[in-house]
Amino acid sequence: MRFDTNTPVQPIFHPIAQKHKVDLWIKRDDMIHPFVSGNKWRKLQFIFEDAAQKGATRLVSFGGPYSNHLVALACAGAIANIQTKAFVRGESVSNHMLQLCQSWGMELSFVNRTAYQNKQLLFEEHQQAGDYFIDEGGRGNLAVKGCSDIIPGNQSFTHAVCAVGTGTTFAGIVQQSNLLGILPLGIVILKGAQGIEQDIQALCNDTDRFELMHQFHEGGYAKSTNALWSFMDDFAKQTGILLDQVYTGKMMKAVFALIESGYFPAQSKILTVHTGGLLGLLTRPLP
Ligand SMILES: *Cc1c(COP(=O)(O)O)cnc(C)c1O
Repeated sequence: MRFDTNTPVQPIFHPIAQKHKVDLWIKRDDMIHPFVSGNKWRKLQFIFEDAAQKGATRLVSFGGPYSNHLVALACAGAIANIQTKAFVRGESVSNHMLQLCQSWGMELSFVNRTAYQNKQLLFEEHQQAGDYFIDEGGRGNLAVKGCSDIIPGNQSFTHAVCAVGTGTTFAGIVQQSNLLGILPLGIVILKGAQGIEQDIQALCNDTDRFELMHQFHEGGYAKSTNALWSFMDDFAKQTGILLDQVYTGKMMKAVFALIESGYFPAQSKILTVHTGGLLGLLTRPLP
């Protein structure tokens, strides 16, 4: 089973980009699949291959109750006809995303935060024959490999911008950007995640260059502000493209703030990466 990762690269026509004479583009990885969305399929593609080679019959992974990774895994598992199980962090809850996971046949097991910390132990304690371990969010070297061909090599971009959670997706972008002579810019969406720099370095080559920005988290992971929602609504109105509030909305809002501050020299050709995650919009508070 494979999904087509050759997604469109589209220009963004927006008055702010025009005013500051930068050329803004977006890589539409949200179009890979509606539920096996964006970077989550890229991170899983070689993991699925490896699991199949090893004759796995069940994929076991980990995530919070709003995990895009678990939704992607549940859906991809159902399509590939392989069982899935997830250890979900925290006390038993129900929400639309976990309900979707169950629709695709994923078995859910809620574990408290202490037990959740030792994922390898959880896996081993409940292991059945044919079980295959997938770390939280799919993180690991196979995931980085799956994220190292996101940028089209023939379009002379000057910058590539991506939201950074664990930094796995960004590490793939960094490797590729350095080969292409593009400056990779990561927008960190967690608060106080200074250690992420070393995590990314560990996944890259010693010589790789990248820039990380820590001031655009809007209050912290999965926190949102009215300013963020109105930015996302304005962006949708201008371009037709929906963003999510956890990752891509913060990334794009940061790009516009950086454009307005003069961070990007005139004539920059900026590729933003839409990593998907639109199901997060299900949790938007209603007025
Ligand atoms: C998971 C996710 C990310 C973060 O990816 P990492 O590889 O963990 O940095 C970014 N965007 C979206 C939409 C995601 O779902």
